[in-house]
Amino acid sequence: MKTPNEFIGSVLSIGPAGENLSKIAAIINDKYRAAARTGLAAVLGYKKLKAIFVKGKRKVPIADMKTFLEESKKLTKKIVEHSISESLGKFGTAVLVNIVNSVGGLPTKNWTMGTFEKAFEISGEYLAEKYLLTNKGCWGCSIQCARVSAVPTGPYKTPRSEGPEYETIWAFGSNLFNGNLEAIIKLNYLANDLGFDTISLGNVMSTLMELYEKAKKGELPKDKAERLLNLLEDIEPTWGNMDAMMQLVWRMAYRHGIGDIAAEGAARLAEEFGSPDSAIHIRGLELPAYDPRAINSMALAYATANRGGCHLRSYAVSFDVLGVPKKTDPLAIDMEKVDLVKYQQDYFSVIDSLVVCKFNTFATDIDDYVNVIKAVTGWDDITKEELLEIGERIYNVERLFAVREGHGYKDYLPKRLLEEPLPDGPAKGKRAKEALEAYLPKYYEIRGWKDGIPTKETLKRLGLDEFLYIL
Ligand code: SF4
Repeated sequence: MKTPNEFIGSVLSIGPAGENLSKIAAIINDKYRAAARTGLAAVLGYKKLKAIFVKGKRKVPIADMKTFLEESKKLTKKIVEHSISESLGKFGTAVLVNIVNSVGGLPTKNWTMGTFEKAFEISGEYLAEKYLLTNKGCWGCSIQCARVSAVPTGPYKTPRSEGPEYETIWAFGSNLFNGNLEAIIKLNYLANDLGFDTISLGNVMSTLMELYEKAKKGELPKDKAERLLNLLEDIEPTWGNMDAMMQLVWRMAYRHGIGDIAAEGAARLAEEFGSPDSAIHIRGLELPAYDPRAINSMALAYATANRGGCHLRSYAVSFDVLGVPKKTDPLAIDMEKVDLVKYQQDYFSVIDSLVVCKFNTFATDIDDYVNVIKAVTGWDDITKEELLEIGERIYNVERLFAVREGHGYKDYLPKRLLEEPLPDGPAKGKRAKEALEAYLPKYYEIRGWKDGIPTKETLKRLGLDEFLYIL
């Protein structure tokens, strides 16, 4: 059967943010899905590449179609019957708002708190009740976690559009001290239209709010505070001021006034005004919505993520909070969690290479993909151990790339998360320093790394001799 794309093709493109080289610009496709993180759209913008159109009609050869269909059917059944898949379909990724808030790990007011009193008003449950038009999914997906929502009337009137996702709701919600979901939906719409990464955008906005507060209180160097207030013009970025953020996003996309500096990302913004620790980032990439002081496996997962502040190399929330593959205590320093983080990093490297959505991994494990790969490729002797080793090789090569480019030799967390105890919620009094210091030595040992860099022996063990020159 022919798919619509065989006739009309598919497009991914950048918006004004990418055209104007914002370091937090996203590439977005015609199915509303985004390659958002790390500012990739700025690379397209730099190359003056507005869009890529793809149209194809050739078939992908499958070694054993009958087995492939049988195995896919088994996998799909396992995925749709899992309770997390069901919740994702019903409430979207924003089902996490109440859950993460309940463990005290919902970053609030630029990571100065871990709980938000208006969490329910920005939750997936509230979204489903008030603004959801329908759910949908990426091509071929059996979970259908994507949201289609609208705000019919009022100051934040928004046409039918996709989202918002959990990360966006957090970034424009608790993170900005904003409990108005209509404002989040509108800002999500603008961010998608202009082409921004909403995780990074929310962090930039919360950083600006903190800088503004510090400027007003006299906590920034005098010349920096004056410059900030001048550049803001008529924008007043007080906590929760969403009208100011609606103005800011346009100025960022078109590089006007304060927007020109904000478009460079949170790290550069905070640095520019003399308060570098106001930006919560790792290697320049703004952090997503899980506070590692309350979910301590995320301290290791974030610090060792090869591309910076990322929750998708290891999603340690799955065991510390959701109980997959087993429930661990999010506040306990438990060395078994180091093995789980490394396992996920290797496993997810395989999953990413297979172009499988990570939300399937709540219901499946690496074993489940062995027979599918055999059926597609005809590699009869592939094993799960071999797949994991492939994942390990990928993780090491990524790390070597970062080392070669001068970024990957230090695994760290932002100072605020390491040193400042959370003031509220179930994790009150916790900081991330103790967990990270306990976990990192064991992590390096089981990876075969020294101070964050793969050793010669590790490269030889993995058959990566061609990269020895980087060491
Ligand atoms: S493929 Fe993943 S992200 Fe896309 S709709 Fe399905 S579950 Fe959601």
